[in-house]
Amino acid sequence: MIIKATAIPIAIFPYSSTSHIVHWLTRQNGKISTIIKGATRPKNRFLGEYELFSTTELLFFATPNKTLFTAKECSMLQSRNAFRTNWRAMQSASYITALFSKTTPEDAPHPELFSLYEELLDLAENHGQAPQFIPWAELHFSEAHGHAPNLGNCVLCSTRHDLRFCASQGGVVCGSCSKARKLPALGSPPDVLAILRAWQQSSTPAPVINTALTAKQRTEINAILSTFMHTHFNLNPHHRTAALHAA
Ligand SMILES: [Zn+2]
Repeated sequence: MIIKATAIPIAIFPYSSTSHIVHWLTRQNGKISTIIKGATRPKNRFLGEYELFSTTELLFFATPNKTLFTAKECSMLQSRNAFRTNWRAMQSASYITALFSKTTPEDAPHPELFSLYEELLDLAENHGQAPQFIPWAELHFSEAHGHAPNLGNCVLCSTRHDLRFCASQGGVVCGSCSKARKLPALGSPPDVLAILRAWQQSSTPAPVINTALTAKQRTEINAILSTFMHTHFNLNPHHRTAALHAA
């Protein structure tokens, strides 16, 4: 059976002397893998039709009970060229790809998340070089997964005073709750929480990347989101660090 899918390569590996194995995130079929035969031959029909971070229409032969399919045709739908020249934006795209790759199971279509992946890649082309972009993208990614951090009031007693961030509780807790339950918490001054709340509510990164941050605020925001993403999505912090150091 031949299946047509809207697909973005999340990893491309050489295979034999002339082929590629491509792991894709697709709108209709979740995460799949295909072999692309002859991919490295000059003038092959796949040339320029698939690329990391770009959207392709993929036709593949789906064989039941197999995990590696054979690609029949690829046709580039949207090439995101900024990532070829803007290395910092490319690092953000790479981190966003790791987020979606890690959280999408094999063979489980999730069209809404695929749309968010495309949207974040589009935005990363223009804004991905800004250090505020990744925290903003993480807040929106978490929201789409139903894990938006609660940044308004203590998740245990609802007070709005003396708050700190506790990743395992999914948001902020107050000093007394944190002490009473011996919860590990990160210092979260009111200015940092106010910035994060505003970012959480901003549906586009444009105002976010214009937020001027002190070095201290930047460090605190990154500590909060790094711990949060690691706790809730079990992400290797290495990807995040690489993307932020590039920024
Ligand atoms: Zn409390």
